[in-house]
Amino acid sequence: MKILVLNCGSSSLKYQLIDMENETVLAKGLCERIAIEGSKLTHKVPGKEDFVIESAMPDHSVAVKLVFDALTDAEHGVVKTVDEIGAIGHRVLHAGPNITESCIVDEHVKDVIRSCFDLGPLHNPANLMGIEACEKVVPGKPNVAVFDTTFGMTLPEKAYYYAIPTEYYEKYGIRRYGFHGTSHAFVSKETIRFGGLDPEKAKVIVCHLGNGASVSASIGGKGVDTSMGLTPLEGLIMGTRSGDIDPAVVQFICNHENKTVDEVLNILNKKSGVLGLSGGVSSDFRDVENAANAGNHMAKVALDAFRYRVAKYIGAYAAAMNGVDAIAFTAGVGENDKLSRQIIIDEYLSFIGAKIDPERNNVRGKEALISADDSKVKVFLIPTNEELAIARDTLRLVEAQ
Ligand code: AMP
Repeated sequence: MKILVLNCGSSSLKYQLIDMENETVLAKGLCERIAIEGSKLTHKVPGKEDFVIESAMPDHSVAVKLVFDALTDAEHGVVKTVDEIGAIGHRVLHAGPNITESCIVDEHVKDVIRSCFDLGPLHNPANLMGIEACEKVVPGKPNVAVFDTTFGMTLPEKAYYYAIPTEYYEKYGIRRYGFHGTSHAFVSKETIRFGGLDPEKAKVIVCHLGNGASVSASIGGKGVDTSMGLTPLEGLIMGTRSGDIDPAVVQFICNHENKTVDEVLNILNKKSGVLGLSGGVSSDFRDVENAANAGNHMAKVALDAFRYRVAKYIGAYAAAMNGVDAIAFTAGVGENDKLSRQIIIDEYLSFIGAKIDPERNNVRGKEALISADDSKVKVFLIPTNEELAIARDTLRLVEAQ
């Protein structure tokens, strides 16, 4: 079966068509500036030149229609008709506490996505627009929602409750949900498979280190803790997000800078992290590394703080599980930045017996064991593939229908 995977943002739409026979990408692309002047679709087929369509996209339905047109285009398409596409898998940010697994979209699922608009104000409305656009453009084609919050649904109460009055959980569902869940679920299972670990009992820590960054702990592929919280702001220092912070900082800045809570949260989400701490150098870790190498002190502090926080979470999660069999690095920094991997493991985690093999660590973007033979904890590089994870869940649910 061929599965179309959609990831809708408020003004963008990313897609991949995956042939599940051999899990290969037949085509992928991006619609940009939806509902903004200058909309553009870039359609990529492996081995061919990019196909670019500059055409008005007043809403997501028009964008989805253009995607199907590109996929079936006589010259640039990869299928003859839309009938060859068995189902559509949608990345959806937030399901609140009520949906704990990926599911085929029906009216109830759409209601739940809608009811979580205030928990995921930037993503959930766009995700729902994508689903409704597909219902309109290809009626009857099964739509599957794969939620970023699913991985966090197996967390025990001690890990997901905030120590605030329980009425806020009861009234509003305020708890830790965790994000990047599709990536954490995928990478933890791939780590178990690639590492030949016990599929039921393996204790795995996944470090998803990209522009957004989070760490998770899982046993047998099931999440037991994760560093992001009610929103993706909690946890690690990221490209532009502060991660963990004393909430009193918000009040202090509000009072002293005459700002609203919303304005300060915007600063914590968009102007902090390595961007803020480096004194505005960049949110891109490569730029921050270059600046640090050129002698910029705060760029070096930002990188040190980023790696230090990752190591602290790994240590905490080893304690949370009373042990760890494997640590996996993934996403942009995790897959490409060998120095960060080495510092995180060798400078902070030798006390649990983890040790990098420098030669094995000289690798990027592919599955690899990077720890030394005498390391007590196996360390891996495992590339994430959220689209494939979504496509696998979609196939499983559609076949079980
Ligand atoms: P992602 O959000 O997973 O796409 O990751 C994006 C981040 O990965 C950006 O901040 C990049 O700077 C970072 N990245 C990519 N390649 C490298 C590299 N070789 N060294 C350090 N960071 C990298």
